[in-house]
Amino acid sequence: MVRRSFDVSEAVLLYAEAPARVCEACGANLWIRWHVPRFVQRLDGVYQVVRQVKGCPAGCGNKRKYRPYEDVRFVLPRLTYGTDVVIEVGERQLRGGTSLRAIGRDLNERGVPVEQSHVGELFRSYLALTKLARGDDHALRKRLLEQGGVILSADGVQYDDTSPVLYLVWDVLSGQPLFGERKTFKGKDDLVPLFERVKALDVPVLGIVSDKEKGLFPAVLEVFPDVPYQVCQNHFLKNCAECMSGDLADLKASVSDRAEKVQRIASRLHKAGVNSEEWELGSPRCDEAPIEIVTDEEEEVEAPSPAEDTETESVGADPVLQAEPLTEAQVAAEFTAMAKHAARASGRAPLRPPDMVRDEGLERVRAAVQAAAAKRGAHTRPSTSSKRR
Ligand SMILES: [Zn+2]
Repeated sequence: MVRRSFDVSEAVLLYAEAPARVCEACGANLWIRWHVPRFVQRLDGVYQVVRQVKGCPAGCGNKRKYRPYEDVRFVLPRLTYGTDVVIEVGERQLRGGTSLRAIGRDLNERGVPVEQSHVGELFRSYLALTKLARGDDHALRKRLLEQGGVILSADGVQYDDTSPVLYLVWDVLSGQPLFGERKTFKGKDDLVPLFERVKALDVPVLGIVSDKEKGLFPAVLEVFPDVPYQVCQNHFLKNCAECMSGDLADLKASVSDRAEKVQRIASRLHKAGVNSEEWELGSPRCDEAPIEIVTDEEEEVEAPSPAEDTETESVGADPVLQAEPLTEAQVAAEFTAMAKHAARASGRAPLRPPDMVRDEGLERVRAAVQAAAAKRGAHTRPSTSSKRR
């Protein structure tokens, strides 16, 4: 297995927009002030979450910063590991009795790099979630009042079909988990007390968002009958997208086919001694980076043999050689690396199905290759690697 350094370009970018449009004090259009990036390691890979922060540009005195809504199901405040990792560690320990050491080892084997001390922390985070009650937290209550109230989101998350459900209620404006409870039975009567505790916080509830889950729905209606209630639109969108599943399957086959062709070109270039920058990222000198990830996909890449690797490194380190313009074969190697990267991109259904994202990426590479070929003009040799794609 090839061990490679974590590279920002490997992280899946998730851009979170702040939904507010106008200043609540003066009505001016809000401006994007800055972005807050954050890396999150989830079970299926590394994500870079970039969050917009907006403010009023009019100098009306409104100093409020407008941010995107928070989803604690993706990641909890101040954690670098996703909530799916937290739940996996917690449930396997609590229910399965698996030792934290074994869970950590297993996560590492599955390409989720985690130190043993982190596994303990993740387990404690999970325990805290299962009996979370912020009702007595006066500082938190003060902050929630200052922001004008809360927009609640509620959901039950489950590790697998047989595990108890972890119900979470959080404020999407601040991203603060407020109450949590791990229950074996999901029904309205179990959930009413959870919402009663939220009500007892005595902070204005501006709105509620949840899945239309059995139990959750009637419990919200019983405790907060007058609060605007929006049912999550994800399921609705998934149903709308269902009729495209055949097309998506075709696209997936086409993406795999193109990725395979690119891989063949890359292998030919590699055998000819031409490698892209991407090959060098796996070399030992880059291993000092703070996060390392091990992916199964890397195994499919033909790793350079030690002898060739040394040679590549010494060539790369030579300033004279580096200054020379790229040869056509090197350009082709860069394009194959770009295409391989595009073919591995992730996306989230229903709005961004992975195969659609991959297809778009591959098409962008194709356009770049065609533009490069056009630049070379009429004297292009007919059998260059880049032209075959
Ligand atoms: Zn304003």
